[in-house]
Amino acid sequence: MTAADGGDDSRTHELAEGLSAARARLASAVSAAGRAPGDVELLVVTKFFPADDVRRLMDLGVRSFGESREPEASRKIADVAQDTAAAGDVVFDMIGSVQSKKAKSVAAWARTVHSVDRDKVVDALAVGAEAALDAGVRSAPLGILLQVSLDGDPHRGGVLVDDLSGLADRVVEAPGLALRGLMVIAPVEGSAERWMARAAEIREAFMADHPAARELSAGMSGDLESAVVHGSTCVRVGTAIMGPRPLISQ
Ligand SMILES: *Cc1c(COP(=O)(O)O)cnc(C)c1O
Repeated sequence: MTAADGGDDSRTHELAEGLSAARARLASAVSAAGRAPGDVELLVVTKFFPADDVRRLMDLGVRSFGESREPEASRKIADVAQDTAAAGDVVFDMIGSVQSKKAKSVAAWARTVHSVDRDKVVDALAVGAEAALDAGVRSAPLGILLQVSLDGDPHRGGVLVDDLSGLADRVVEAPGLALRGLMVIAPVEGSAERWMARAAEIREAFMADHPAARELSAGMSGDLESAVVHGSTCVRVGTAIMGPRPLISQ
């Protein structure tokens, strides 16, 4: 994007339309569920899309973004950060699975990691977050959402419900981390409505032990309405705003 575009190129129009449609959809889902406006954060998922798209979205008022891979995310965020004017109040969350060896770099940029599902990743993020705090690269603890498996299939990511409490304890014990809540991805088979109802049940039981961990990251382009009905506090929307993802990562 060059200065000559003035932010007024056709891609900006496309993103503006996708964004306002997604915001309208979210607002009506929130109101249909009898919830307060502003109860549910819209995280715009920019994985695979270039830094220029992040800049366009920042110009359109977006302040929270979701990224899913390293080093794509680090590179994009460093690129965007050069535009100091707007970058200050923008947050990036990690929504993809974290490899232990990438935990250090993720801990340097993420507000919150949505996809934590095993001890090894908790430990690696704890080390990374402490290092980032010591170095002044971050000023607040790294937020952690535990990704829960809704169908109990261990191959698809997410901690099993039976192992959730042990994993939560490990996060609570780590000084650089702050347990914020849970994250789910509805399996494609079956109804999203039913999976989100299950997520709400799991969350209710979880919050009995961890009342401050009230975040529920649930809902994507295809199922955000069901997620909002069942208590989502953050929807992660990519395709409905960005269009189909390019095949080659930026
Ligand atoms: C890519 C991704 C999304 C966005 O999905 P869309 O269907 O494109 O809205 C949400 N959550 C996670 C974990 C993702 O990896």
